[in-house]
Amino acid sequence: MRLPDWGRSPVVTELARPLPRDGQVLVRVEAVGLCRSDLHVIDADRGTMPFRPPFTLGHEVAGRITAHGPAAAVTVGRRVVIHGPWGCGSCLRCTQGRDNYCDRRAELSWAGMGLGLDGGMAEYVLVPSARHLVPIGDLDAGEAAPLTDAGLTSYHAVAGIRPRLGADSTVAVIGVGGLGHLAVQMLRALTPCRVIAVDVREEALALAERSGAHLSTKATTDTSRVLRATTSGTGVDAVLDFVGSRSTLDLGTRGLRADGDLVLVGSGGGELTVRKPGSLPPGSRISLPFWGSRDELADVVALSRSGALKVEAERFPLTAVHEAMSALRDGRLSGRAVLVP
Ligand code: NAD
Ligand code: ZN
Ligand code: ZN
Repeated sequence: MRLPDWGRSPVVTELARPLPRDGQVLVRVEAVGLCRSDLHVIDADRGTMPFRPPFTLGHEVAGRITAHGPAAAVTVGRRVVIHGPWGCGSCLRCTQGRDNYCDRRAELSWAGMGLGLDGGMAEYVLVPSARHLVPIGDLDAGEAAPLTDAGLTSYHAVAGIRPRLGADSTVAVIGVGGLGHLAVQMLRALTPCRVIAVDVREEALALAERSGAHLSTKATTDTSRVLRATTSGTGVDAVLDFVGSRSTLDLGTRGLRADGDLVLVGSGGGELTVRKPGSLPPGSRISLPFWGSRDELADVVALSRSGALKVEAERFPLTAVHEAMSALRDGRLSGRAVLVP
């Protein structure tokens, strides 16, 4: 499933199976998640992304090692997930498995697997190095694939605020889709805080409740009042915004407590004005987490294997990728869509 050029629809194409060289590893894809970021990429105007087509989409992959180059010390047959934010491979951050914050990111012509380099919406994906692989044992592939982005990004976003969350803290999760439903579960599994979920869709609010949210509320122009009313007027200690539109940034700003955290994960194109004094409460911390580290991915896999996470995913054959994309676009999915080649 390749994006041929900016402004063109992705197409299913036949390509030769890649041959791994040097330290490369060939993974047979068992499942690949579909992310709203794929839609952002497909919809992007030329020049707005730090990479270029053509490339195969797919940045959320679980599969099995089938071959490797002579310099890769891996075991054929082992089942793995792929840590997707491939960086330069040699800076300090990359050597620590923190490719998501690669020091040479600005010089690279890709943002990761399936984002400028060939990804996993295919039968096989060529991984540049074994260091991007995390073993999954017998974890179901459809559960495991979404852990690598929906799970990892949520985990990393929660990790950034976790030290400040106590039993008297309240966190608002805005947007309970692929990422958001796992963020709710992680907040419940890893912190004692109270979780309020916000979405525009009833099915997403029901998913939030199944995921453990204490309260779920439909996004309206009044939602910031709900956030204040449920926190005795103070506002919430943290907002995890998985939408990032103008209206959700506005909600986050109005609903946040002083000395609170506004965590922007969604790439919805909204803009926020930062000014002192301004609309943000005093002491606000704003962060823009991107994906997560390799070690964090290993933590997420362990969390899933312990039974603490329940990925809600609808499965589609890879050949039905366009149908899955329409379902995501039209808000007909609950949780993630996972494609099976
Ligand atoms: P998704 O479509 O599965 O979920 C988004 C949810 O937000 C849906 O349930 C939708 O109903 C809800 N929503 C839409 N508008 C809303 C509004 N105004 N108020 C409240 N809820 C609203 O998308 P996803 O795959 O979970 O991705 C979420 C966002 O995160 C996307 O913008 C994606 O590009 C971005 N993302 C960022 C990173 C990162 O590293 N920062 C990683 C992955 C995805
Ligand atoms: Zn993604
Ligand atoms: Zn690097």
